[in-house]
Amino acid sequence: MADIKFAKEIIKRLSQQYPDAKCHLDFKSPFELIVSTVLAAQCTDVRVNMVMTPLYKSKYKSPADILNDGESKFRDSIKSINFFNNKAKAILSLCKTVVEKFKGKIPNTMEGLTSLSGVGRKSASVVLGNCFGKTDVIIVDTHLKRVCARLGLIESDNPDKIEIELKEIIPAKEQFFFSMRIGELGRQICKARNPNCTECFLNDVCPSAFKV
Ligand code: SF4
Repeated sequence: MADIKFAKEIIKRLSQQYPDAKCHLDFKSPFELIVSTVLAAQCTDVRVNMVMTPLYKSKYKSPADILNDGESKFRDSIKSINFFNNKAKAILSLCKTVVEKFKGKIPNTMEGLTSLSGVGRKSASVVLGNCFGKTDVIIVDTHLKRVCARLGLIESDNPDKIEIELKEIIPAKEQFFFSMRIGELGRQICKARNPNCTECFLNDVCPSAFKV
């Protein structure tokens, strides 16, 4: 297990560097965020925003709107998004469950969210943190996995185990913000290829500095 003192130092510096780190998907409701999060798998947030923002404004304001439009029309609306076919199926099924089991409201628990089609713990955590104010969630995405491994905060590469490892060293009230901020570091500095260690505010404490 990584040192709690070390984790504390990382948390402190991340909060100084990225105090307002935000979700890169545009959304105005839990419904919009859950749909966009499912669509963003293996696709860029920019593309999803480009396609979905006008659609949320013009015709898809609730799960019932997508259901009423039907799978083929919804599929046509999102066809510039990667894997639109499978994603359209998953989202129609998600909307059906929300309407039938949750009275049209996106559930606000991990259990409820992960019961929806196409929604795993990562997507559920995105919604719980961004829409429902839950702080005790870790968003294990590609950026978090890469940066935390380089920092020596995690040993596993299994998402469920990573979540457990990080929950042992990051206080519950910091877990969501840590996820958002580490994501920002991954996007801006600690990129998959050629991390910019020279410019990194963690380069004096990171065990991978100048080695990746
Ligand atoms: S010092 Fe380099 S490897 Fe370490 S977190 Fe910063 S950019 Fe990533």
